Amino acid sequence: MLCPSSANTQQCSEESKVRRSPKRVARTDFLEDAQKRPQLELRFWSKVQKTSDDKCWEWTGAVCKPPRLPYGRFTIGGVMPAHRASWLLSGRTIPAGLFVCHRCDNPRCVRVDHLFLGTAMDNTQDCIQKGRMHRTHGRQPNTRIGTDAPSARLSESDVLEIRSEENPNIQRRKELAVRYGVTRTTIRDVLRRHTWTHL
Ligand SMILES: [Zn+2]
Repeated sequence: MLCPSSANTQQCSEESKVRRSPKRVARTDFLEDAQKRPQLELRFWSKVQKTSDDKCWEWTGAVCKPPRLPYGRFTIGGVMPAHRASWLLSGRTIPAGLFVCHRCDNPRCVRVDHLFLGTAMDNTQDCIQKGRMHRTHGRQPNTRIGTDAPSARLSESDVLEIRSEENPNIQRRKELAVRYGVTRTTIRDVLRRHTWTHL
């Protein structure tokens, strides 16, 4: 069960002061544009390999590179995890505080009936059980940035997913910290682009 992202539309006065590049933040308002929607759906599904049985529908477009988990990357006014885009394109919503998770444990899968909404706690417990926390173990120590930095606890896909959140408020940032096994300061720095500036 993978659980990388969620939407949170609550505004936060502190967060509103944060400068961020609009090109980098995935915007869900594209989904609500009736004129652009068919083209968007066409572009999305052209990158999905569907099957006639109940197997996963895998994303064939860009994915996060190893050692990050290969979540699909869909550009929609910014980079959004493809499975999250699939969830939203299906007409479903992502209530604040919930994540879009995989039942099938396949990060490339965008099949909606393989996805579900879960809490940060659900996912954190699952990550611990599956050994996904602290993914820096075993990495080469002599590299420089991002996941290659010896001290990194987040992967680049994690950072993209965190930044795909829309103005996460303080409570939401707490949940993100729990979900990714980092401090709230780390989450704040990611959102403000004080760290992971190469993404
Ligand atoms: Zn699947």
